[in-house]
Amino acid sequence: MVLNRKEQLNSIADTTFDLCVIGAGASGAGVALDASLRDYQVLLIDQGDFGHATSSRSTKLIHGGVRYLEQAFTKMDLGQLKQVYHGLHERHTVLHLAPHLTQPIALITPVRRWLAGLYYTIGLRMYGWFASGKDKLPRSKWLTRKQALQHIPGLAPSVHSAVLYYDGQLDDARYALALALTAARAGASIVNHCRLESFTSGESGQIVGAMAQDLISGKPVPIRARRFINCTGPYSDTVRQLANPELTARLRPSKGVHVMLNAELMQSRDGLLIPETKDGRVVFALPFAGKTLLGTTDTPYHSLEQEPLVLASEVQYLVETLSPYLANTIRPQDIKAGFGGIRPLITSTEKSGTKSLLRDHEVEYDPDTGLISLLGGKWTTYRLMAADAVDKVVELDQGNAECTTATHPLVGATGWHSQYDEDLVRHYRIPGDWAEHLSRHYGTDSPEVVAIYQEHPDHQERWHPEFPYRIAEIIYQVRFEMASTIRDVLAQRTRLEIQDWQAAHDVAPVIGKWLGKLLKWSAEDQNSEVEAYQHFLEHAGKTAGIRVK
Ligand SMILES: Cc1cc2nc3c(=O)[nH]c(=O)nc-3n(C[C@H](O)[C@H](O)[C@H](O)COP(=O)(O)OP(=O)(O)OC[C@H]3O[C@@H](n4cnc5c(N)ncnc54)[C@H](O)[C@@H]3O)c2cc1C
Repeated sequence: MVLNRKEQLNSIADTTFDLCVIGAGASGAGVALDASLRDYQVLLIDQGDFGHATSSRSTKLIHGGVRYLEQAFTKMDLGQLKQVYHGLHERHTVLHLAPHLTQPIALITPVRRWLAGLYYTIGLRMYGWFASGKDKLPRSKWLTRKQALQHIPGLAPSVHSAVLYYDGQLDDARYALALALTAARAGASIVNHCRLESFTSGESGQIVGAMAQDLISGKPVPIRARRFINCTGPYSDTVRQLANPELTARLRPSKGVHVMLNAELMQSRDGLLIPETKDGRVVFALPFAGKTLLGTTDTPYHSLEQEPLVLASEVQYLVETLSPYLANTIRPQDIKAGFGGIRPLITSTEKSGTKSLLRDHEVEYDPDTGLISLLGGKWTTYRLMAADAVDKVVELDQGNAECTTATHPLVGATGWHSQYDEDLVRHYRIPGDWAEHLSRHYGTDSPEVVAIYQEHPDHQERWHPEFPYRIAEIIYQVRFEMASTIRDVLAQRTRLEIQDWQAAHDVAPVIGKWLGKLLKWSAEDQNSEVEAYQHFLEHAGKTAGIRVK
């Protein structure tokens, strides 16, 4: 479906919406889809790109959380147990709704002693029992050292043995985008780079409208909607207090960073779970987008107005945590990129530090203003969270529309199968590596990208010799996915920004040239867009202690 940003913006002026959803991460895009499928007229806005904040900066696991299971038993905490149960039951649905953007992933937990092997084998067997059984992921298994090394050839041979179990993995940024695009296909208006600035209230104090700003043109965007749902993740308190300054803060944001390493270090299609860090957490090293995703950290974060960049000390912590488990040394040149995210943790169950806060969710209704806020949560349960929020709207409206998202596939999913890339090669005679990339990014919408590829030889050029991306994708992303900035292309619609900072820096002029042509930028604007993006990468690199130029 062609998506023209100007047309979407124009629709705002002409419509009084049933619902305005503020924030297009997992929560907001999930709410927009759920409500559209229940025939509500929905507007979804985000101050950045769809999914650009926390929802593209996760560990990318669809899971119940093995650590929560351990805590549930050691602390006799039923709440944690419930969370594991919900996560594991939802895992199947999240995988199933967009199989092209998700996959099962084998996770290997190395142990140094026999007793630890027994402990994790029992724990992970129980974790499997909590799953619904619908997703048919293989059972957990205790591996000998030799078997563990076959799974991860880069593992240090000093381990005693390892325990293998399965969870789900998703391309979080493309999943969030797919939710927003699926909502648009179901009738929602969706606009990125549009920030909610203020609410307008009637005499009773109830919100009757809002003022937003189109951050691309700088123009004001008045919004009329019957109800507003605040899905702004870590920024939820700001929006809650914008509506009602009397409300007390509910969130305690926590920063988590990841670094991307050269995949040669592990040489594995399976992930590694480091079961115990020096600060009592778990750390993952997972294959993702041709690299190894290593993370995460967990520290309180207060500067919400600033992007949470990776610090050199955080890189050092992660490298020091992984190093004892690898056969080879991690060299500075093995660190290719990094990214930071902010967890929207709810404070109501606050104990000592953010590690002990529940990542549970809550739907808050403020009767004084009518604002509904969807707080907390995690990627894995986005659909349940969205259903709870839209159920609240239905209840307030005294309606009876039910949630149908569990059986509504996301864009690109219908008709997709794991050999879909071979179909693309057979039908369109395109290179195999590009077909594989298309299949896993655009699913059964790939033929639209191929049609653009076939329009002109220039559209067939690769952006960078080491990555499969081609010019046709930039054109597709502008026409069909509302890409409006260089970062929209490199961070969310493709993942080059988190695969390799230097490569993203190198290709920025090409992306800028094509976006300039498609979006009619002046030469001056084009140059400043490229320079600003390159400057951002250089700054991010410097902060992390990685040279980018
Ligand atoms: C390091 C880390 C690792 C994680 N790993 C996992 C994992 O492996 N599995 C898992 O299930 N979960 C994981 N999570 C949790 C998960 O990523 C989050 O719970 C989820 O992405 C939050 O989504 P959200 O939509 O609530 O917030 P966000 O994705 O942050 O979306 C909120 C949106 O609101 C927008 N916004 C804010 N203010 C305004 C405004 N005034 N106007 C318009 N828009 C506005 C923002 O631009 C943003 O896009 C992880 C989180 C972190 C930080």
